Amino acid sequence: MKNLIDKIYDLICRASCEIPEDIQSALKKAYKKEADVSPARQQLELILKNIRIAEDRNQPLCQDTGALTFFVSCPRNFDKAAFRKSAESAIIKATNDGLLRKNSVCPITGMNDGTNIGPGSPMIYWDEKASKKLEVKLLLKGGGSENVGVQYSLPDDKLGAGRDIDGIRRCVLDAVYKAQGKGCPPSITSVCVGGDRASGYAEAKKQFLRKIGERSKDPSIAKLERRLLSEINSLGIGAMGLGGKTTALDVFISVLNRVPASYFVTVSQMCWACRRRKASL
Ligand code: SF4
Repeated sequence: MKNLIDKIYDLICRASCEIPEDIQSALKKAYKKEADVSPARQQLELILKNIRIAEDRNQPLCQDTGALTFFVSCPRNFDKAAFRKSAESAIIKATNDGLLRKNSVCPITGMNDGTNIGPGSPMIYWDEKASKKLEVKLLLKGGGSENVGVQYSLPDDKLGAGRDIDGIRRCVLDAVYKAQGKGCPPSITSVCVGGDRASGYAEAKKQFLRKIGERSKDPSIAKLERRLLSEINSLGIGAMGLGGKTTALDVFISVLNRVPASYFVTVSQMCWACRRRKASL
C-alpha cells in the first residue's frame, strides 16, 4: 500500500510541475511563429519561462492545480477500493506539500476542508483488461479552461448548424470564438460527437490524453481535425487572447453512438498548462 501511495504521489508531483514534452515543443513552435515584438510572443515567452521555473523548483505550473481525473487500466478483479484509498492518501500528502492547491470545495457552502477529497474528487475512470498490468493516467484540468467547455444539441438554428460535418464544424468554431482569451490559450480543443449529455463531456475530456499531432484513426474525422485546427488558428485570438497565430495547439475529435433523437456536439478546452502524466505501477 505504502509503495502504491508513493508512486501515485510521484505521478501527481510530475503532473503538477512538469509539462509533457509534446506540449512544450508545440508551445515552442508557436513562439517561433510570432513576430519579434508582439504580445503573443511575449505571452509565449512568459509561458515557456514559467514552465522552466516550475520544473527547476518542483513547483506547480499554475496556481490552479486543477481537478484530478485518473484513468486506470487494471487487471480483472483488481481491488478498486484499495486503489482509491491509496490515491486519496497520495492526494492529501501532495496537498499538504503544496504540490496541489486546496482546490475542492462543497458546491453549496463553498466550504473547503483542505484535503482535495470529497464527492467526485478525485474522479476515477476504470478500464478492466485481461492483462496483469496496472496503468494509471492522470489529468489535472484547471477551472478556467473547464468553464469554457460547451455542449450543443443539433440542429442549432442560431448557428445554422445541421446534423452533419459542417454543423459540427460550426459548433467547434463558435465555442472557441466565444471563449476568446478565457481558458488561457493556446488551448487544446477536444470534441465528442454523439453520446449523451454525460458521456459527451467524459469522452471529450479523455481525448486530452492524446499526444499533439495524434490524429483520429478515422480518415474523415482526421481530416476534420486538421481543418478545424487551421480554421481556429486563423481566428487571430492567440496566446491568452491577446492576438496571434496560435489559438489552438491541436484539435482532437472522438465519436460515440447516439440515439436517433439526439445529436450532441460537446467541446472541451484544455489550457496551455495541459498536465497529463502516466505511469505503469
Ligand atoms: S485555465 Fe489553466 S493556465 Fe489558466 S489559470 Fe486555469 S489552470 Fe492555470
